[in-house]
Amino acid sequence: MSSALDTALDALPPLREVIAEHELAARKSLGQNFLLDLNLTAKIARSAGDLTDVNILEVGPGPGGLTRGILRTAPASVTAIEKDSRCIAALQPLVEASGGRLKIVEADALEIDAIALLPAPRAIIANLPYNVATPLLLGWLRHIQEFRSLTLMFQREVAERITARPGSKDFGRLAIIAQWVSRPTRVVELPPQAFTPPPKVHSTVVDFRALPRDGAQPKFETMERLTAAAFGQRRKMLRQSLKSLGLSTYGLTPETLCATAGVEPTARAEELDIPAFVRLALTLEAGG
Ligand code: SAM
Repeated sequence: MSSALDTALDALPPLREVIAEHELAARKSLGQNFLLDLNLTAKIARSAGDLTDVNILEVGPGPGGLTRGILRTAPASVTAIEKDSRCIAALQPLVEASGGRLKIVEADALEIDAIALLPAPRAIIANLPYNVATPLLLGWLRHIQEFRSLTLMFQREVAERITARPGSKDFGRLAIIAQWVSRPTRVVELPPQAFTPPPKVHSTVVDFRALPRDGAQPKFETMERLTAAAFGQRRKMLRQSLKSLGLSTYGLTPETLCATAGVEPTARAEELDIPAFVRLALTLEAGG
């Protein structure tokens, strides 16, 4: 049996009409590639699991296709942050259909504090604007324990870097940071033709769940600095690449740092696993 919300959503015009009426010609500068197939947006929203009682943040609702899919999962609330003022008016019928569940905020998502904005339990679902996807992800991963889940669409190449295993060509900073704090899983793959206009690349939805924090953990900033140094010169051995950390101020050299952390100084960054990076970061914080 369909709910009053489903009935109200069913009565909304197709997304192509919304786009035509509000003249939402896609802007490349805002990473606008819209999803118009409501079966697909419902599938993406469902890939986040059971959202009952969860407060959802959506970044970049655009004409509202994914927002409609999220609302169909009957979460506690949806707060959608959109930078393009043209979309705000286009989303008003959806706000009305939502019966108080949907709130639109006109803002730059890079400047929004998702934790302050939404009560717990909170989750993020978004078809991200590709030009700001990585900085947004890193900002959320820093506080991943505050989120029930992140379900985010990226260019396939970025999803591959997030889920890469040690030793593979894609293994780097993004994989280490993401897999250190969470379990990222690829849940939906989409070809370019799924979007209007179609981008040049394939896309992948990745679902992130926080990992339990066992044992001593370094600060997020230390892991960022360490991985930046180690992968800044990814072909070089650690004894060379770690020099850029300015270790002498900590009374360390790359060799002593590696020795204390139980890591070979002749190894290359891509050969280390995540526990090895954690040991290096903890050693760095302890100053040797
Ligand atoms: N969610 C819609 C969909 O799936 O069809 C649109 C996704 S489109 C890839 C990205 C959306 O993010 C656009 O609506 C764009 O205007 C918006 N956007 C771009 N940069 C943004 C920012 N910094 N803050 C908030 N929204 C942004």
